[in-house]
Amino acid sequence: MALLTNKAYGYPTRGARRRRKPTILACLHQTANAKATAIQERTYANRPDSHGPSATAYIDRDGTIVRAIDPAKYAAWSQGDVAHPNTKLPTIAAAVASGVNMNEWVHESIECSGAGTEPYTDAQFEAVAQLVAKASKALGIPVNRSTVVVHADINSVSRRSDPWPPATREARVKRVIARANAILRPPITTVTVKAGDTLSGIASAHRLTLKALLAFPENAKYRATRGSSTQATSSA
Ligand SMILES: [Zn+2]
Repeated sequence: MALLTNKAYGYPTRGARRRRKPTILACLHQTANAKATAIQERTYANRPDSHGPSATAYIDRDGTIVRAIDPAKYAAWSQGDVAHPNTKLPTIAAAVASGVNMNEWVHESIECSGAGTEPYTDAQFEAVAQLVAKASKALGIPVNRSTVVVHADINSVSRRSDPWPPATREARVKRVIARANAILRPPITTVTVKAGDTLSGIASAHRLTLKALLAFPENAKYRATRGSSTQATSSA
């Protein structure tokens, strides 16, 4: 499926085309229309009188990711984010202070299919986390609550259920953040070292170079000695 482009949408200057590195990895949304599929939402957002897609990716209930625009080249369109930014969030305050179109500060704008008050499906949570992890790797920005936001965070106009009602929102955002961080960093394995083991031997047994093994923060204490050890950590 060919990627779409966003049209110039004006405020406060040009908009649409990415002009600077974003500070927010992802803004999460959920469609208001419970019945529409990801492709239908993508098509609707790109209707002739629209400025272009409001999301960089639309995700179906089964987790299928439908790309709309390339987030490296274009920012997703949302008038409300610029007209009514929520400057209580430090990253958004910084974006507004820069005088640049707010949309350009959000890398992925991700919209999941389903009614506004429903949680994402497990498959949608997974797809969102994969996109967030990928964005973090590409941009070198850590995954946390300042870099993963929901539409209700960015926009000061009441968006009580976009994507989730406040009562359940934080737990769900944290689920995305935790999963994305787990994708970025594999689970830790603790190794009990026997007499005669060497750090390089442990490294190769876990398909790591010695340098990679010692790069784990937990293994900092072995960096100086490199010889005797009782315990080391490696990725599983
Ligand atoms: Zn939204």
